[in-house]
Amino acid sequence: MRRNVSRGSRSTRSPSWASASSGSHRSSGRRSWGIAGARFDTAVLFDVDFTLVKPGPDLGPDGYQLLGRRFGLELDPARYAEARAAAVETVEQHPELDHDEEVWVLFTERIIRGMGGDSDRAYECAVEMTRAWEHAENFELFEDTLPVLAELRMHGLKLGLVSNTGRDLDAFVAHHALDVDVAVSSSTHGKTKPHPTIFQAALDRLGVAAGEAAMVGDSPDDDVEGARALGMRAFLVDRDDRFREIEDRLPDLRALPAALGLGGLGETHG
Ligand SMILES: [Mg+2]
Repeated sequence: MRRNVSRGSRSTRSPSWASASSGSHRSSGRRSWGIAGARFDTAVLFDVDFTLVKPGPDLGPDGYQLLGRRFGLELDPARYAEARAAAVETVEQHPELDHDEEVWVLFTERIIRGMGGDSDRAYECAVEMTRAWEHAENFELFEDTLPVLAELRMHGLKLGLVSNTGRDLDAFVAHHALDVDVAVSSSTHGKTKPHPTIFQAALDRLGVAAGEAAMVGDSPDDDVEGARALGMRAFLVDRDDRFREIEDRLPDLRALPAALGLGGLGETHG
């Protein structure tokens, strides 16, 4: 549960580059979203974790317990939530937003120690758990993911993924049968969201300008602020109803086509 840690640690800090790059698309007249039926986007980019998929049991409390035993650690699943919350409080990003797996290993190590694994094998166990996050089969699609991607396709939109992850996203896309045109991971790109270049890399590969694209994700900082700073529209998918103050917030993906101003095809999957 580590890919959305930024919601706990950076919620009030604006990225330093945001003010420098935020003006270029603002006066184009294309940003009049909210007009019913209006459609301006030619592409939609999606975050992956907690937006399209959720971690399965091997990455949750019981998965920690099972993995811990391989390292001689007795981890208490009941302490997972509290241990994770404490780890979120202390997680630190790379100062230049470089992709850095070590950040996640240390974050995971704190969870392990917080679940009762306060031993010198905690780090080893954390490395193994971090590797488990690289495997596509350890994730489950949200039930609205495939229907909504299909619906956007019916409207002719280009689709892409932008994810802070060490996962092989091409293998991930194939495993989950995701119909997208491009998938950019921070491990291959080098920078993590909210750095503007990772969004731009996806837009470039799609041949779409920022002002013609929307970003959809579950992190106010990494996904929403990051994309808006580049001149994209952005929607927060807030499945747990946590961020009531955020503009353009969606309860789930089913609300997305209407939010994009698309109409007419949404009834096909109820
Ligand atoms: Mg996410």
